[in-house]
Amino acid sequence: MARYTGALCRQCRREQIKLFLKGDRCYSDKCAFERRSYAPGQHGQARMRKMSDYAIQLREKQKVRRMYGMLEGQFHKYFVMADRAKGVTGENLLVLLERRLDNVVYRLGLASSRNQARQMLRHNHFLVNGRKTNIPSFLVSVNDEITVKEKSRKIEALNDSLSAVVRRGVPSWLKLDKDKYVGTVQALPDREEITMPIQENLIVELYSK
Ligand code: SF4
Repeated sequence: MARYTGALCRQCRREQIKLFLKGDRCYSDKCAFERRSYAPGQHGQARMRKMSDYAIQLREKQKVRRMYGMLEGQFHKYFVMADRAKGVTGENLLVLLERRLDNVVYRLGLASSRNQARQMLRHNHFLVNGRKTNIPSFLVSVNDEITVKEKSRKIEALNDSLSAVVRRGVPSWLKLDKDKYVGTVQALPDREEITMPIQENLIVELYSK
């Protein structure tokens, strides 16, 4: 699967918000956004011009797409799925993104970022309902159980993330049994439980043009 391979911190600076793409570094004073909170590039420090409606919608979509680490084509597919489903399209979109296995592994605190979760998934460190699952885009359902494989439980990065989970917290729709290295999907997330500052209506407006 194609993926973005450029500088991650640049994406936070472009979107003018911390996207937490680099795990522990994002919480330290090494965070590039804390040190240089202006947009990247030659004109990054120039005073921002008033943005058009289209530009505002585009930036919102780019922000969310980058937050979940997706390329445009993949992200648009999620929008199409959300649009076809019953309910409010914007909320459907966010719920679909949250249900991705790489996001769930990250939210459970089994990886320090979605990027790390993707890498660990591809390296076959997890089981879903007892079955080998190494597809980051796999969509979890209620009662799914995500387990760290026995032989993978000694991985330092994984245990470091688990230690930091106290700071990050696990959302209420997921449950983590830290000692058994098992996470359970208790429910699908409600919109109110997705606490990042996202205006999904702007994304819907952009794609509906
Ligand atoms: Fe963004 Fe993390 Fe880099 Fe800070 S350290 S700019 S939050 S990716």
